[in-house]
Amino acid sequence: MTNKNIDIENFDQELDNICEECLNKDESVSQNLILMGYKICKSCRISKTIFPI
Ligand SMILES: [Zn+2]
Repeated sequence: MTNKNIDIENFDQELDNICEECLNKDESVSQNLILMGYKICKSCRISKTIFPI
């Protein structure tokens, strides 16, 4: 599932850095949103292990 068509004008609102999983605020949330399209922090990203390497 690809969801890369993020509206630029809505992008700032998306970048509130609040993780959708744990609802904690972390600057890694916006980085993960840009890189992967998931609005999660680094700790949730590790726990979910999204990357099927
Ligand atoms: Zn999180």
